[in-house]
Amino acid sequence: MAKLGITNLEGNTWMIHSPANIGIYVLKNKVWLMDSGNDKEAGKQILKLIKANGWELEEIINTHSHADHIGGNAYLQQNTGCGIRASRGESVVIREPLLEPSFLWGSYPFGALRNKFLQAKPSEVTKEIAPEEITDEAGLEIISLKGHSYDMIGIKTPDKVIFVGDSVLSKEIIEKYHLAVLYNVEEFLKSLDKLEKLDAKVFVPSHGKPVEDIKELTNINRDKVLEIIEVIYDACLEPISFEGILEKMCMKYNIELNINQYVLVGSTIRSYISYMNDNNRLEYLFDHGKMLWKVKK
Ligand SMILES: [Zn+2]
Repeated sequence: MAKLGITNLEGNTWMIHSPANIGIYVLKNKVWLMDSGNDKEAGKQILKLIKANGWELEEIINTHSHADHIGGNAYLQQNTGCGIRASRGESVVIREPLLEPSFLWGSYPFGALRNKFLQAKPSEVTKEIAPEEITDEAGLEIISLKGHSYDMIGIKTPDKVIFVGDSVLSKEIIEKYHLAVLYNVEEFLKSLDKLEKLDAKVFVPSHGKPVEDIKELTNINRDKVLEIIEVIYDACLEPISFEGILEKMCMKYNIELNINQYVLVGSTIRSYISYMNDNNRLEYLFDHGKMLWKVKK
């Protein structure tokens, strides 16, 4: 993998540039790491960077349990004995990463799904943290930002930098992928509203560049969600199966499926269907051994 670089954002807050950005807060030469990169190789490079600056790794805080955010956990914990903190809901998957492909597939996943993009190595969460809590030692503030994943958090450093995980994605990613992974549409939209009210000097999305004003990103993300709801609604004007909706979405947005895309896009469409059923826009019926979705009149 490419060599990871490090940038100072503000005071004691730093960022390591990586496919999923990593945060660093340094207190008395001890590092509080926010997420740990894609895999063991990312973990190795992070540890090198920490040592090269004369720091020591104290704790990892994971924003959520997706494999590209916790991939370095196991290596770093084994090699430094660092603690790992995460929210209660995400801790379950960090400890038992097989749950991630299981959850996406809907049962025990076949071999092709048990790959490193969907399933990280297990690591031990040493402390579960509650949202809206301040971690006593470092003064890091935990902010609940559910929606993209089950129990995601953001982390605000005393320098007023907020690492927002995947609660917003960059314009480039949204324009390329359209259907960004999403677990709970209602919570996702609430988190966007919440982000706009937070007081920060810098917001750091995991996939994208740091920004001083989050509104442009929240608007782009919100508009895309609202657009997708209408596209799914139109797809259901006549009764249609889940696979039929998936096909229409792939055609509309030029999504080429592979095994990872199939479960990630599929799971995201199911999230939208749940939201639209809960909001009385879609209803289901069963017909000759098929479950079908249609707009609710
Ligand atoms: Zn994620």
